[in-house]
Amino acid sequence: MQLYKELNIIEDKKLYNTINLFSLVVLIVAAGIVVMAQLIMFGEFHLSFTISNYLWIIGIFLVSLPIHELFHGIFFRYFSKSGKKVKYGFSKGMLYASNPGEVYTKRQFVIIILAPFILNSTLFLLLSMSGLESTVLWSVFVLHTAGCAGDFWYIYEIIKNPAITHCEDTPVGVKFFVEN
Ligand SMILES: [Zn+2]
Repeated sequence: MQLYKELNIIEDKKLYNTINLFSLVVLIVAAGIVVMAQLIMFGEFHLSFTISNYLWIIGIFLVSLPIHELFHGIFFRYFSKSGKKVKYGFSKGMLYASNPGEVYTKRQFVIIILAPFILNSTLFLLLSMSGLESTVLWSVFVLHTAGCAGDFWYIYEIIKNPAITHCEDTPVGVKFFVEN
């Protein structure tokens, strides 16, 4: 196996800025999808930003962040061959789950990366049946989806470089490998 490409989100300022900009694009696209979905489902677009809704949005969003990392961690662990403990932590203003040193197949890595987006979005959908205002859950969905921009960037790299066969999460980003 041979190193094909390495991404360092922390030290590569250009990549860091690109992903931040991409996050903004994801936010706008997600918000657009939400508006369209509301129009299609209900024939009208309704938003209600009361103080209580703001607090619910912030609260649920904050709770969703460690759950997001936990979902990464569960799948890091599930596919791990070494059985090493997955690391959780807080660095550079961000929570993380990581399993450095462990190389995963592309398919496993894609699942690890996308699991939090899919599972948290499902949780938001389930929560929307709890009687919370739809504005709260749409907003949290949009914020969380924008927060997944880094994850989506990895997927973009994997799709853009079909030669990649294996991936490793590193403390600063990701390493992509090709099979010799
Ligand atoms: Zn993530």
